[in-house]
Amino acid sequence: VTTIGVLTSGGDAPGMNAAIRSVVRTAISRGIKVMGIRKGYNGLLAGDVFEMDTRSVSDIIQRGGTILQTARCKEFITAEGQQRGADMCRVFGIDGLVVIGGDGSFQGAEKLANLGINTIGVPGTIDLDIACTEYTIGFDTAVNTAMDAINKIRDTSTSHRRCSIVEVMGRHAGYIALWCAINSGAEMVLLPEVPRPSDEEIVKKIIENKNKGKKHFLIVVAEGVGGAEQLAQTIEKVTGIESRATILGHLQRGGSPTAVDRMQASMMGAKAVDLLCEGKAKRVVAYINGQYVDYDINEALKMTKQLDPYMYSLSDILC
Ligand code: ATP
Repeated sequence: VTTIGVLTSGGDAPGMNAAIRSVVRTAISRGIKVMGIRKGYNGLLAGDVFEMDTRSVSDIIQRGGTILQTARCKEFITAEGQQRGADMCRVFGIDGLVVIGGDGSFQGAEKLANLGINTIGVPGTIDLDIACTEYTIGFDTAVNTAMDAINKIRDTSTSHRRCSIVEVMGRHAGYIALWCAINSGAEMVLLPEVPRPSDEEIVKKIIENKNKGKKHFLIVVAEGVGGAEQLAQTIEKVTGIESRATILGHLQRGGSPTAVDRMQASMMGAKAVDLLCEGKAKRVVAYINGQYVDYDINEALKMTKQLDPYMYSLSDILC
């Protein structure tokens, strides 16, 4: 490769900047030109492309968000859009492209690869919902942010002997919720991967816990389950315990990336450049058993992964 393009696509995640920085500096250290593409595939189609040097990525490793900005792009789902994207890469001399994002972004990358642009996907999403990898950039920071917020909710909840129902992000996956539940000592966690207990079962557990002398009650609800507000109303009505729902929302996407996210992003970004230098294309970088590996994008998109049932069982034991 002579010129690598880099873009971030889909939802933003803390650590994306560290990944961009790694791609840029690794490529330049190998004598490869780097072009930054703003606003994901939208920016590619609009020709919002600029040359990056090592200084373009100064002072960003500690910042959340993405300096390249991110977007969702409907036009890129069409064959015409994809062809325009490949043509635009050629206009700027881009013969290798690193796409930092989630599964949707990888599907776009796969299409570009079929049109002759060497693409590599780097898993960047707070949701941890990419099947081929045990880690996705942004997860650790998002969990720590949510945990920190839950700690604060818990302080006031304990003081007032309230029941707190906290909804955390994760789209269709329950990883953030499960990690928050175990790490915050939640009485219950509702995950999209597990059949939802009935309101009666939830209320029964709260009453049992109250009788055991518990001073506060915490239920973590995954975004993919939802209904926190309605659950709070039901609990309050049936038990008489004051109940409050909090939807943490977008604060979980922001903030300075943790050490884990900076390191993972730095390693994965460099690995993507390594793969392009080896002449590989249509691959996704993955972290498996402590190693950085790569898979064919199609193979990766077909994989499925399961929430660890042992981890889930602990959420019930450790509270
Ligand atoms: P996250 O999970 O963090 O939201 P994501 O990458 O899965 O990230 P999506 O919104 O699914 O987010 O995809 C991002 C962009 O990738 C889309 O807006 C679109 O431009 C492109 N994309 C998604 N699916 C396809 C597809 N089947 N073919 C081509 N491009 C696609």
